[in-house]
Order: sequence, then structure tokens, then C-alpha cells
Amino acid sequence: MHDIADFRSDTVTRPTPAMRQAMAEAEVGDDVLGDDPTVKRLEEMAAELLGKEAGLFVPSGTMGNAVSLGSQVAPGEEMIAEEWAHCLNFEAGGAAGLFGILTRTLRSHRGAMDPEELARWIRPGSLHTPRTAMVAVENSHNFHGGAVLPLENLKAIRELCLSRGVLTHMDGARIWNATAASGVPLAEYGGLCDSISVCLSKGLRAPVGSVVLGTRAMIDRARVFRKRLGGAMRQVGVIAAAGIVALSEMRSRIGQDHENARALAEGMARLPGIELDPAVVETNIIFVKVTAMEAAKFEEILRAEKIWMLATGDDQCRFVLHADVDREDVDRALAVMADVLGD
Ligand SMILES: *Cc1c(COP(=O)(O)O)cnc(C)c1O
Repeated sequence: MHDIADFRSDTVTRPTPAMRQAMAEAEVGDDVLGDDPTVKRLEEMAAELLGKEAGLFVPSGTMGNAVSLGSQVAPGEEMIAEEWAHCLNFEAGGAAGLFGILTRTLRSHRGAMDPEELARWIRPGSLHTPRTAMVAVENSHNFHGGAVLPLENLKAIRELCLSRGVLTHMDGARIWNATAASGVPLAEYGGLCDSISVCLSKGLRAPVGSVVLGTRAMIDRARVFRKRLGGAMRQVGVIAAAGIVALSEMRSRIGQDHENARALAEGMARLPGIELDPAVVETNIIFVKVTAMEAAKFEEILRAEKIWMLATGDDQCRFVLHADVDREDVDRALAVMADVLGD
């Protein structure tokens, strides 16, 4: 049990003692000159796990998506994504602001776009119309409550994109959660896209960093965009070292977060003033509808009880499970919520 039960995000996790030690002892060099052996090792490890040729270490998931988009879609070309895609909604408008990418969003079933609808929107480009250059998918899907994209859906989208000469990018910030929940190997997900960006700093507990994976040629282009954005870093092996520990030791613990999420969701579903179908909770993210009061008020009341979560709408809150909250925190949160809601 922790003094504060922090359910705001899995990004709040702190590095483990093993990570701190690896960071202290990391062998480093100037990574911009290609000299940092620790960064290279991390990039190779990630590429191997996702079944890709090469990897590029970047400071954040946002930059991972940015260099993937910027390096593969030209200004004035189009990218299609699901309406709640992180890369369009929560990355400060980078696609348009940095790269002049035209974006089209489609509605979805829990993050999974309908391939038939997608097929109608993909366009080859003409004197008048932009060319669709990329389709972006997100797995697991943050704002659809950590939903895992069905493998069949990903395969259908991949096939469609290949047949129409369109690239596929996967925002795999939480690909570890998708694999833990579905049993689909990481490399199988990697095989269903041209580029994938994965986060080391969420469920895997590293303090900083993401890795972009793709072909060697794609990664070479992405490296230029990373430089352009100011994300090329020098003796950054001190950070990459924590990422190596994350990849080698932390993937196996993700399932615990999913178990805790289920326990919290099942408990909350029984409370008055909260609406939630626990069956939709597949991974570590829970969105609930709050009917008892305004979501912001509920957030404030729980915060006073040292239970932190985020109001994500007028009547909606998000709880995220991770290594720094445990089952006792979940039980305490449920007891406090029962009190507050008058169960
Ligand atoms: C967290 C997240 C990112 C990247 O976030 P950063 O805070 O920039 O590391 C990208 N996509 C999804 C789906 C995410 O949840």
C-alpha cells in the first residue's frame, strides 16, 4: 500500500533500483556521432522483439510518433486515423503544426476502424485531391480504455494498406499491454505495420524514452527528423540503460496491472453513481461514467483522500493501473469510493 494511490497514469511509475544501478554503470559515448553502445544495444533489443530491422531511441512517445509521421508522410499528403488517436488528439497538433499533414479521422469500434469504411476513404491523389500516404492504428488504445485491437482487424487493415500502396504506422505506446492481454507475440504486431513506436516509460517503468522501429531505410530518415526536432542526444546511454532493464525485466509484470484493473473495475461497477461495464476492461486502463456528481468534483473529493485519478470529461474519469499501485491501494480506493458514493 502507498500513502498516495496514484491512478492518473502509468507514466507516474518511478525507475527501479536495478534501473538506477544500470544507469550509474552505463557505458556511454556521443550517440549523435553513433558512439553510444548502450543506446545501440537498446535499439537492437527493441528491433529484435518487434521483428523489425532497426530502431531509434527517442525522448518520448510523442516524438516517436512525430518522427514516424514526418519521415513517411509529405506535407499536403493525408494520414487517416481513428477519431480518438493519441497522435492526433494529445500531441499538440504535431502532424499539422510540424509537418503539414492533412488528417482524416474515422469512427471506430473500440479503436478498431472498419476496413470497408477505410477502403472508401483511401485515395490515390490527383490534381485536386491529396494522396493518402498513411493509416495510423493505436494498440492498445488509450482513449478506448486500453482496448486491444483484434488481430483480424489489424490484418485486414494491413492487407488493405499494402494493396493500395499506403503505409501503416502503429502507435504501440502500450504494445506490451496488448501482447500481455491477447497473447499475440510482439513480432506479429510488428509484422503488421511499417513503423511502430513503443514506450519504455509506462508499464515498463523506465524514467524516460521510447523506441521507433522500422526498416533500416525508414529509421535512417526518422533519425534526420529526430535531429530536426532537437531529439538527438549525446551521452544518452545513461537513460537508455534503464530502457534495457525495462525491456528485459519488466514485460512479465504487465499482467499484474491487468489483474488489478479488473479488480478495480469489478468493484467500481458495483458502486452507485458510477457506470461501467467491467467486461470492456482488457488491459490497465479504466474509463468510468460518473453520474453521482461532476467528474471534476469526484476527482477533487478523492484527491483529498489521497486517491488520485483524472477527470477526462464532464462525466468521465480515467483510472490507470501500474507498478506503483497495488491491490491494497485498489481495495482502499474502493472502500473510499463506497463511502463517498453512499453505498
Ligand atoms: C503515452 C502515449 C504516447 C506518448 O506519450 P509521451 O508522453 O509523449 O511519451 C503516445 N501514444 C499513446 C497511445 C500514449 O498513450
